Amino acid sequence: MTRPIYNFAAGPAMLPAPVLRQAQAELRDWQGRGLSVLEMPFTGEAYGEIERQARADLRRLLKIPQDYRILFMQGGASAQFALVPLNLLGRDGRADYIDTGHWSRKAITEGRHHCRLRVAASGAGQGYDGLPDPDAWRLDPRAGYCHITHNETADGLQFHHIPDTGAVPLVADMTSDLLSRPLDICRFGLVYAAAQKNIGPAGLTLVIVRDHLLRPARPGTPGLFDYRSLADNRGRLNTPPTYAVYLAGLVFRWLLDQGGLAAMAVRNRRQSERLYAAIDASDGYECPVRPADRSQMNHCFRLTDPAREADFLRKAEVCGLLNLGGHPARGGIRASLYNAMPDAGVEALIDYMAAFVDGQV
Ligand code: PMP
Repeated sequence: MTRPIYNFAAGPAMLPAPVLRQAQAELRDWQGRGLSVLEMPFTGEAYGEIERQARADLRRLLKIPQDYRILFMQGGASAQFALVPLNLLGRDGRADYIDTGHWSRKAITEGRHHCRLRVAASGAGQGYDGLPDPDAWRLDPRAGYCHITHNETADGLQFHHIPDTGAVPLVADMTSDLLSRPLDICRFGLVYAAAQKNIGPAGLTLVIVRDHLLRPARPGTPGLFDYRSLADNRGRLNTPPTYAVYLAGLVFRWLLDQGGLAAMAVRNRRQSERLYAAIDASDGYECPVRPADRSQMNHCFRLTDPAREADFLRKAEVCGLLNLGGHPARGGIRASLYNAMPDAGVEALIDYMAAFVDGQV
């Protein structure tokens, strides 16, 4: 019998096995139309059907009200670091950012080129071992929005409560936790996410934005990245990432079949608690993040003897546990448990961790 392989990559990440099987089965001929989704004109009826269904299923999954628009974009979450201020703020617009780790710092660095940006709170002083207490954020009531990174993929932190920013719209980078649990989207003005974690393949970026925040993008913004024209033209300003939209659509269907996001939340929480409990109970491992702020997606931890980490990672690969290395900027170990990870993968990892500490592998 071949040993199962589990992929703990932070992204592009594991996709649900039934989704890959379906994509494989219909790769050359989509639903008897005689052509592959890869070959379809985006203006045609078949692709139109795929896209309409994907939008409808996403709306259903996240219970997105009609006054929110769904944009299928490209350029990754990194492009949104610039496009959010260019689209939501006029010239000299102000925005508050909360600095919680690697990805919020990236958003801040790019955002500074495009708006009067203020860091309203930062976890840097504590080495990003937790989220800055929302009660201590110094929010500017004149800010056009307040930006948070809802799940810090590299540092292993996640918001478990939506912060209250009053009348200032909340904008969230949800690249690594959108669709992992139900979300009260009405608490947000805009949410964006690159697809390559819980949504689908790289190449697609979702933007979900409240209608009334849409205004003409700042002059000089490439027309292709103007949220309002994208919304008005159903994302058809140029060729959309058609195959990525199709695959994301299959993931949305799979999620609905699994019982939707409430079912995902139960599974993700169970798996995450199992893994953190194993880390905390062992003398061989330690997680630097405060328990209340730990990510249920990206479990970042270290060996108490960091000199053994390379050996841990090498032997894990031999055991079929792939891509457990931490983000290059942070090092250590990172186990990403997205929606597609089966319980058996988590159990295999926990068994391996115990065996490694006991010197049995
Ligand atoms: N934000 C977060 C939270 C991420 O995890 C990532 C990618 N790992 C990005 C932004 C950047 O995404 P992309 O590479 O698609 O630009």
